[in-house]
Amino acid sequence: MENNKIGIMGGTFNPIHHGHLVTAQEALDQFGLTRVIFIPTGDPPHKIEDLLADAEDRYLMTEIATSSNNNFFVSRIEIDRKGKSYTIDTVKELRQIYGMEMELFFITGADAILEILSWKDTDEIVALAKFIAATRPGYDISKIKSLKSTLFRSREEADKKIFLMEIPALAISSTDIRKRIKNCRSINYLVPEGVNNYILKHGLYKKT
Ligand code: ATP
Ligand code: MG
Repeated sequence: MENNKIGIMGGTFNPIHHGHLVTAQEALDQFGLTRVIFIPTGDPPHKIEDLLADAEDRYLMTEIATSSNNNFFVSRIEIDRKGKSYTIDTVKELRQIYGMEMELFFITGADAILEILSWKDTDEIVALAKFIAATRPGYDISKIKSLKSTLFRSREEADKKIFLMEIPALAISSTDIRKRIKNCRSINYLVPEGVNNYILKHGLYKKT
């Protein structure tokens, strides 16, 4: 039977960068996923950006960045949904699309998992999906450990739902990329070349 593990990489992707791509690839390899689906957020509920590019631009940059990888896909479900995007709605929609047999792994940075699982609908989310939290070598995982013991009755249960994954140190963030563009500094090699070209062509992130 075909392996049925799917990775979900949610994010603002404002813009997508090599940190996201390395993390997705590493999860694919380390956890034997069949594919990773990138889901750009539509209207983020708890993130107010001064320089938030249009959802369509963020979606297209995500397509460009992932197009050469046969195991990477991009979904419009959060962009096409009206109103704010909540993780629980996305999980439920993915369950409708893929059925209950599929193993869904949310791939997040260590910072993001703390945010998602302390937000709302936590019990419902962890009942429907698993989490892969990417950490850098040397990262302090005590917060994730205490999150695990708060959310689950036993260590065994927690270890079946939340997995830690070490990725090579990557101090790349979209915030830094936007700052660089504003300050006319290069973003070469931080984002895929096609994404860089798209940003330049459409003059994204230049407003002050
Ligand atoms: P911003 O600086 O605007 O917050 P970001 O770089 O954190 O952007 P997001 O779109 O917010 O990117 O993040 C999407 C997901 O990717 C989150 O789970 C986040 O933790 C993770 N992530 C972001 N940057 C990295 C990185 N360099 N390495 C690994 N994971 C990352
Ligand atoms: Mg972030």
